[in-house]
Formats: sequence, structure tokens, C-alpha cells
Amino acid sequence: MKFTFVTLFKNIVDGYFSDSILKRSIDKSIIEIEYLDPREYSLNKHKKVDDTAVGGGAGMVMNPQPLYDALSDLKKQDEDVHIVFLTPVAKQFVQNDAKRLAKKTHIAFVSGRYEGIDERIVEQFADEVFSIGDYILTGGELPSLVMCDAISRNIDGVLGNSDSLTVESFETQLLEAPAFSKPKRFNSIDVPSEYLKGNHSKIRSLKLALSECKTKFFRPKQLLKYKTRISHEK
Ligand code: SAM
Repeated sequence: MKFTFVTLFKNIVDGYFSDSILKRSIDKSIIEIEYLDPREYSLNKHKKVDDTAVGGGAGMVMNPQPLYDALSDLKKQDEDVHIVFLTPVAKQFVQNDAKRLAKKTHIAFVSGRYEGIDERIVEQFADEVFSIGDYILTGGELPSLVMCDAISRNIDGVLGNSDSLTVESFETQLLEAPAFSKPKRFNSIDVPSEYLKGNHSKIRSLKLALSECKTKFFRPKQLLKYKTRISHEK
């Protein structure tokens, strides 16, 4: 899978791939990262990429020409590229989107800056538009990285142990059971005793009960959906 970050600030993105799982995936050629800087396409003699908003309003808007030329070039190189724009107003990106998008071969994330991107570019090029939550960030680079990370985890070979995926929160409506590592006793608090006895069927039942408790606490509506589904399956 190839990810193209269309951004004015490559350095903000680049560091994330310098370590850990995603770096290993790049080294193994499972994922490939490239950057496209709209500024390099600007026809303005000062390489400007923003301008005041037509009709008034605070702040600057990314103007259409550099992005139009950059994205046209990208599409010329790969007509299958799936172009995603980041904007706080769109549908929120969720785990099912990550799983679905992991099947693509090439995704480009277009990061806005300032007050955002000229809407005509979004209309013309967006295959999808996503928000990562109801708050305003300074740019689309963090949202792009959030999506890239979540999508990559669902690509074969990225995670050392693919079982990690199947038990994770949001895979089965239930949140994942609390996790514990060694030592068995820390600051006078023990891990649940059943975890230590080696009876895997009992451990599974306890984990399920703990998952249900955790889901009830953090996502009560999700627990209701889960219970309804289970009762229909019976
Ligand atoms: N003026 C815009 C508004 O009120 O909707 C906000 C622009 S924001 C300061 C600049 C850029 O950051 C956006 O174009 C978008 O790419 C990105 N961005 C900010 N918050 C985001 C979020 N929650 N999800 C996705 N992208 C976001």
C-alpha cells in the first residue's frame, strides 16, 4: 500500500515513520510513504499557496491552483489513487473505515491549513472526506497520520501477530478486556487471580465478563447493541 501525504509541512509527518511498527513496515516494503507539496506547484512568483477568502471572513484559504496541479499530477501518475480530504466537518473516521481502506492500493491524504481548502478542489478531487473528531486542529497532518496508522494496522504483515487485530476494541462491539503485564503483583495490587491459573476457558469467560463491564462503563449504547445481536444469534 502506498500512502501519499499532500501537505505543506512534510516534516510534521515524516518523523512518525522513523520508528516502531510503521518504520518496520516501510523497511519490509509493506507500506510506502511519499510526499507531495502543493507549494512546489504554485505558479505564484513567491510560491504562495493561500489567499484571502472571497466574500470576506477571517483568515486565509488554500487557493485552488497549486492543489489542482498537484492532484492532477498525482492522478496522472496513478489513476487508482484514492483521494481523502481531511476536514473537521465531515463524517468521523471509524475502525470499519480503517478496515475497508486497508484494501486500497494507494491512498492520498490532503491536509488543509489556515482556514481550509478552496471548496472547488474538494468537490473535484475528493473520493472521501473525513474528520477525526469534533474539534479544530491547525492542520490536516495529524488527522492524516491518525488515519494512516489505523489503516496500516489492518494491512497484512504490518502487525507481528495478526491475532492482535481480532480481539481489539471495536472489532466485536465489545471493548477489549483490561490488559495486565508482569509482575503479577505491583504496588500491592494483583492481576485477577483467574489469569494466573492457566485454565484458558475460565480466562476467556473472565475476559468476556470484564469486556462487558468495560463496555458498559465507557460505551453503554454499544453494550446494548452487542446484547441485542447476541440474543438474535441465540
Ligand atoms: N475553518 C475550518 C472550519 O471551521 O471548519 C477549520 C480549518 S482548520 C484550522 C485547518 C485544517 O485542519 C482543515 O482544512 C483540515 O484539513 C484540518 N483539520 C482540523 N481539524 C480537523 C479534524 N478534526 N479532522 C480532520 N481534519 C481537521
